[in-house]
Amino acid sequence: MTQEFDAIVIGAGVSGLYSLYRLRELGLSARVFEAGTDIGGTWYWNRYPGARFDSESYSYQYSFSQELLDEWEWSEHFSAQPEIERYLHFVADKFDLKRDVQLNARVANVKYDDAAKCWDLETTDGLRARARFVICATGLLSAHQFPDYPGVDSFKGVSLHSARWPKTPVDFTGKRVGIIGSGPTAVQIIQSIAPECAHLTVFQRTANWCTPLRNRPITPDEQQELKKNAHEIFDLCKRTWAGFIHEPDPRAGVDVPKAERLARYQALYERGGFSLWLGNYSDSFMSRIIADEVAEFLADKIRARVKDPVLAEKLIPKSHTFGTKRCPGEKNYYETFNRENVTLVDLRETPITKITPTGIETVNGTQDLDIIIYATGFHSVTGELLRIDIRGEQGTSLQQHWSDGPKTNLGVQFAGFPNLFAIMGPHNPALFCNITRCVESNVDWIIGCIRYMREHGFKSIKTTTEAENAWTERCYESAKGLLIDEMRDSWFFGSTNPDGIRGHFLLFAGGVPEYRRIFADVAAKGYEGFELS
Ligand code: NAP
Repeated sequence: MTQEFDAIVIGAGVSGLYSLYRLRELGLSARVFEAGTDIGGTWYWNRYPGARFDSESYSYQYSFSQELLDEWEWSEHFSAQPEIERYLHFVADKFDLKRDVQLNARVANVKYDDAAKCWDLETTDGLRARARFVICATGLLSAHQFPDYPGVDSFKGVSLHSARWPKTPVDFTGKRVGIIGSGPTAVQIIQSIAPECAHLTVFQRTANWCTPLRNRPITPDEQQELKKNAHEIFDLCKRTWAGFIHEPDPRAGVDVPKAERLARYQALYERGGFSLWLGNYSDSFMSRIIADEVAEFLADKIRARVKDPVLAEKLIPKSHTFGTKRCPGEKNYYETFNRENVTLVDLRETPITKITPTGIETVNGTQDLDIIIYATGFHSVTGELLRIDIRGEQGTSLQQHWSDGPKTNLGVQFAGFPNLFAIMGPHNPALFCNITRCVESNVDWIIGCIRYMREHGFKSIKTTTEAENAWTERCYESAKGLLIDEMRDSWFFGSTNPDGIRGHFLLFAGGVPEYRRIFADVAAKGYEGFELS
């Protein structure tokens, strides 16, 4: 039996839940299809030890409901996964969203019916649904990746991927644990589990510039202030380039005396979160002088915190300067490597040759392990969309449409896929963005568009190919002149994505305010660049 709705949403994470809320508000019937056994998206799957916000909790929360803001209190400046998951359940329960969420429903294919001008969806279990609109709320870091070493399936111990962490707690006591990866996820795991393990071996390919998170409980006085200033915080996030609360000094760092710059780095290092990354100087992402100087500042911190100087040098990134990747927020990460029970294997010196039934083999021999943790990231940005067989007009697949890299208009639509929208897909500002801030503006634009269509009697919207090409080009251009463009070895460029969809800049680096301005402008011009019929 095929169920019929006005709109189908794929994914019940931060963006899917908000989409459902807004669709209902418009008076549309909607159903959310979610692969997990529960809602939460990223915060459902990534339940590994140490998982927590890298955005300040109060800047990440939804802004759309005053009641919600009044009723919910975060306990920490950077709350941990269990609290975030509780928050999303609180939201879903408060707005009675769960009744329209189909759990355990992994979408296998979504096909456009040219004659009926509708989308047909099928899950891997054979559930079928049909709707005029489809909103892909699939997340930009959802399709988790295992490394392609031989023997990954042969390991007889426990294998865990950070993005598929089990619900029952993993006991590391007395266990020999190996972790592959040293990105933000790995950093959170390593610093959390090291004290529990009999031995922890960190297999690091590329060191990262970590900055202190400085998490702490929110005091009752702070709580009152945060509630009072909630909208000021959201307004600030709307103004800042990255949608965070961190505002850089408007001066170019190169125009500031060096002693003053160094004092600012220190103050930002003390402040924590993304302060040093996003709150530095206006030229931080362009000026190699500034980026290298911050890198040297951080390298000295690492040297001071890691007792063994040889080890310290291995933990200092050599392949990229500061700011070209999202920096992991750490607490005692570097001190963790002073522990007797923690070893670092530098994969640049001693590469992994294979995973064996008993552990990890490098060119130096085998390390026997009880548990292997893969914190090896994602097929970023395009992965989850491409795992679904999405076919638009005349049966053209999204895989075909994106065979030379993703193409989108504003990150929300793809030519030949009418009435299908993406949230946090390619070409949005998510590389720096505070996700909920970007999600809300994406969803509000899509909902505004659907409202406009209803008010003006339109049944279909699709981007023109010209507008799609122009936006895609604009995204590539947006990275030019930024240091990130020189460092292609990151998920911003899909560095760990399968062959063929690697190497394109996957996002929009023009900043959140500019993105919002363009969104508003396109809508104000009657959805310029889109065909309405
Ligand atoms: P990631 O940044 O892509 O890091 C993946 C790690 O796995 C890297 O260290 C990578 O090394 C390593 N790796 C991949 N394949 C490998 C292989 N074959 N052999 C050895 N090492 C391999 O992924 P992530 O740490 O999961 O973080 C992804 C993004 O998620 C972050 O940038 C951040 O935006 C977000 N995140 C957010 C939070 C938060 O909000 N609190 C927490 C965690 C993550 P190379 O660098 O050498 O490729």
